[in-house]
Amino acid sequence: MAKTGLSKSRIIAGRQCPKRLYLETYHPELKDDSGSEALFAIGNAFGELARDLFPGGLLIEQDDDLRGALATTENAMRDDRVETIFEATFSYDGVLVRADILKKENDGLVLTEIKASTSVKPYHAADCAVQAWVLKSLGHDVQRIQLGHVNNQFVYRGDGNYHGILKEEDLTGEVTPIINQVDQWVTEMREVLVGDEPEIAVGPQCSSPYDCPFQDYCWPPMPDYPVSSLPGKGPIVQALLGEGIEDIRDIPADRLTNRNQERVRRVTVAGIEELDPKAAELLNSLPYPRYHLDFETAGPTIPVWAGMRPNQQVPFQFSCHIESDENTLTHREFLDTTGNPPMRPLAEAMIDALGDEGPVFMYTGFERRVIHNLIHWLPDLKAPLSRIVDRLVDLYPIVKEHYYHPDMQGSWSIKKVLPAMVPELQYSDLDGVSDGMAASNAYLEIIDPETTGERKAQLEAELKRYCHLDTLAMVKVAQRLAGG
Ligand code: SF4
Repeated sequence: MAKTGLSKSRIIAGRQCPKRLYLETYHPELKDDSGSEALFAIGNAFGELARDLFPGGLLIEQDDDLRGALATTENAMRDDRVETIFEATFSYDGVLVRADILKKENDGLVLTEIKASTSVKPYHAADCAVQAWVLKSLGHDVQRIQLGHVNNQFVYRGDGNYHGILKEEDLTGEVTPIINQVDQWVTEMREVLVGDEPEIAVGPQCSSPYDCPFQDYCWPPMPDYPVSSLPGKGPIVQALLGEGIEDIRDIPADRLTNRNQERVRRVTVAGIEELDPKAAELLNSLPYPRYHLDFETAGPTIPVWAGMRPNQQVPFQFSCHIESDENTLTHREFLDTTGNPPMRPLAEAMIDALGDEGPVFMYTGFERRVIHNLIHWLPDLKAPLSRIVDRLVDLYPIVKEHYYHPDMQGSWSIKKVLPAMVPELQYSDLDGVSDGMAASNAYLEIIDPETTGERKAQLEAELKRYCHLDTLAMVKVAQRLAGG
């Protein structure tokens, strides 16, 4: 029987779960990898940057011409003028691998796997082992096996020079003992692929070490109010599931000892919201004008401006709804699309929009952290920014303490609270950008010089609608809590 072709990614999928390997191979149409597209894009961008740090390397193009890639790699391995190969392509016993960076040194080859993570993870060793197994089996002398990941201490100087962003860690000691196991892994994977779809129960492997893209296919339909949505979760969730209790409404009345979990059970069974009038007392004691502030931030893995570290969050947009009195609502906003560092123009616009007095509502402590970071970036604005920090009022703990609706499914995020409390306002009505990650991606696309003017205009409109809704939601939520 012909051997089934395998690749490193298929072997890694099969190690997570044999059923995943089977589905990846025979039923890729069942896959939902929409959530991982952005991660792939980040990985690719970091991989390209890493290659720039090894000048003179030869890239084996990754087109459909596999034979060509194998032949070009073979030639490059023999050519003494080629010191470094990117995406070197090898196949042994039907297992295909592409080595991110392969460097020829005097005492042998240095194999470097590139990851956009900021540290070595336990599962990276298996990735490297598959690569090394193929190379060693073909007779190549692999002396060192490394993982190259993002150095989160790197500070970009703004000169196009990213030397120092790649941190190479020697994993030879960790990887060598498991290289011999790859033979067995390959045998097991092939057995999976010649059989029927494996019968494997869902479990922790579905989200560890990676989120499996077949969860929609494998997981049974959830009950309306799953016990897994109890706030704080904890061992009680497993205990209830073990007793066959899947829906919060089926939990016996005296079972939950955690006050918040019991509140969620009680409200869910009752089927109507619970609003503590103490919230109104608290909110009605606050003066006007009242401001409702929300930022959008981006934290690109590859820093864009001088002074940035990898993944450092930088605000590029804010929305602010202003209640001058009980009946007057106005809106201010800022969105930087210039591609220049947005911190100063944003901070100055925000200081102007927020005036000198009145509570500034935020939802969770995120806005506080963003303003503290602005103080770090802009020490000359420390005084006005610190005065804003002193006026911040976090709406989140007020909502959490005093309000719950069954539709919130154990979460007090604004995206759960708003539709439950103010059904006429829905995030699901937004076109395009409708969460923080999408907002960050939209901004990075806007400042990409290759993005067309038309696309920029579309993204700009989406960002403004999204951020506007965030602060309008805060206004409406605060008004409901206050008895409005
Ligand atoms: S969802 Fe879980 S059980 Fe299904 S293939 Fe993925 S890891 Fe395996």
